[in-house]
Amino acid sequence: MATKGDYRVSEPRARRLAYDSGLVEMEIECRETHELRSLFNCPVCGRRLKMVKNMTVFGGTVTLGYTCPHCPYWTGIHRRVPTRYIFTRKSA
Ligand SMILES: [Zn+2]
Repeated sequence: MATKGDYRVSEPRARRLAYDSGLVEMEIECRETHELRSLFNCPVCGRRLKMVKNMTVFGGTVTLGYTCPHCPYWTGIHRRVPTRYIFTRKSA
């Protein structure tokens, strides 16, 4: 994983474990930045992000953003940075 120095180990790991346990629902609040840098890995769970594309009327495709196949994270072409995580216990 090649991120530049802003990767904290303990916190995301705890979050991931909680989410992977399947006992909680996770909501992610994000702040949109003006960065157009493409993302390859989910900043929340580290999985590879899936590109979301749309067909244009001219037969090409346009990238709309990225979604994570594992957790609720998604981003548009303007990168969204997670600012807050809300965990709620799943009701049985
Ligand atoms: Zn994810």
